Amino acid sequence: MERLTDIMGIGVGPFNLSIAALLEQVPSLTSCFLEHKKEFIWHEGLMLPNTYMQTSYLKDLVTAVAPESPYSFIAYLVRNKKFYRFLNTEQKTITRAEFSDYLSWASKQLTNVKFSQTVEQIEFVDDRFIVTTNQGQYQTKHICLGTGKSPYIPTEIKPYLGDNCFHASEIGLRNIDLTGKRVVLVGGGQTGADVFLNALRGNWGQPAQLDWLSRRANFQALDEAAFSNEYFMPRYVEQFYHLDEAVKQQEIRAQKLTSDGITSEALLAIYQELYDKFEVQKQRKWVRLLPHRTVNAMSNTTNGFKLMANNTLTGKEEHYAATVVILATGFESKIPNCIKALTPMLDLSEGGLLQLDPNFRVKWSGGQDNHIYAVNAGLDSHGIADPQLSLMAWRSAKIINDLLPVPAFDLFENEHVIQWTNDDSEHDCEPASAAQSVNEGIAEKTLSMA
Ligand SMILES: Cc1cc2nc3c(=O)[nH]c(=O)nc-3n(C[C@H](O)[C@H](O)[C@H](O)COP(=O)(O)OP(=O)(O)OC[C@H]3O[C@@H](n4cnc5c(N)ncnc54)[C@H](O)[C@@H]3O)c2cc1C
Repeated sequence: MERLTDIMGIGVGPFNLSIAALLEQVPSLTSCFLEHKKEFIWHEGLMLPNTYMQTSYLKDLVTAVAPESPYSFIAYLVRNKKFYRFLNTEQKTITRAEFSDYLSWASKQLTNVKFSQTVEQIEFVDDRFIVTTNQGQYQTKHICLGTGKSPYIPTEIKPYLGDNCFHASEIGLRNIDLTGKRVVLVGGGQTGADVFLNALRGNWGQPAQLDWLSRRANFQALDEAAFSNEYFMPRYVEQFYHLDEAVKQQEIRAQKLTSDGITSEALLAIYQELYDKFEVQKQRKWVRLLPHRTVNAMSNTTNGFKLMANNTLTGKEEHYAATVVILATGFESKIPNCIKALTPMLDLSEGGLLQLDPNFRVKWSGGQDNHIYAVNAGLDSHGIADPQLSLMAWRSAKIINDLLPVPAFDLFENEHVIQWTNDDSEHDCEPASAAQSVNEGIAEKTLSMA
């Protein structure tokens, strides 16, 4: 058995990698991060040509809390001798391929990350966690779960999964050929858009028919407006945590397009491609875009499948024939199998999910001095930013600070004029004296100018 470490990360996606990178500058804590894959690769199955990040490259592993870290995206550009050329490209966002390369570059330098380690079981014995992998056993005081999300497959489609019906997250791992096939793509978010554009461009062969169904009211854009981006700020998340549960759910629904919409660039690329194919080249109309369709049943046919969808505009049921069904139906949170032994000690939500405290500690009744942290598990508690990269570095710093007697990272923020709740401000809602003096100031100036 390996030596006792302070914290062990289970799974190394970007979120736990960020913690691993920041921990390098905290020598008082020992750490080890275990990843099942042989090397770092980010959402390999969805690494499609010309797919771009939804977030700025400055929202990297470390910059937001430790701009001096050697693991920033800027450091990656400099160390890989492409800084000036990168600037010349004038990109606001980078490709997913480059982001993955950056993360892989960082992972190779970190001494606290171990690959080819599948965590099979985690038990709590006396005052420590015993972590069993395919390679051996480890012991640690605290763990941080970072195993990501699982592809979401609607129940009515599950029985049909196979070679010709699969989740989009596998598309890059399969050797698919859509030539001459009737393809139905389900799901109108960013992944649906990325798959649609690639299929439209014939990157997997020329389909006979391509139908894109979405239950959304239209092919809706990512809301990236300045004020919408306030939801991706530490201050907002900290206040969100304390809202009433019903209000939280209502806000998460209302804010959906700030993270789940399609980038304007992808929408425009699709629109332009459609224009070129059907208005300029005058191709046969082999594509249909079908918003307001909720798939509610599926069946086998002699040639493939039939999908039944409700058109929420007309209330009528419609049928779609398919030889291939691709599901861009998103991802869901699940409790990782490796923590089954801990389940009796976990304080789970009504929906059977982990519950987190403000510092991302999982609520449980095991050792008081042993913490389970979880990243990408706090949508319901911490809001819409939790599954996104925007606050990754901040959350990592918060977790590390929580482990230390004295915080290693300064997370203090200046007060902002946007006040989500009254608790947001130390002042009253109407600071009479301050308002008065501002007005007086203006009056004085006006008088002197006159
Ligand atoms: C295609 C795609 C694009 C996205 N683009 C953006 C974007 O542009 N901006 C943004 O803000 N967000 C984006 N997201 C959302 C989010 O940022 C990513 O999903 C991110 O990868 C989540 O990181 P993670 O570390 O939680 O999980 P993951 O990246 O899923 O990593 C989890 C890791 O855990 C490992 N693992 C699982 N079980 C075990 C085990 N038992 N033992 C060992 N290892 C294990 C897996 O192999 C995996 O490497 C995107 C999501 C997807 C799917």
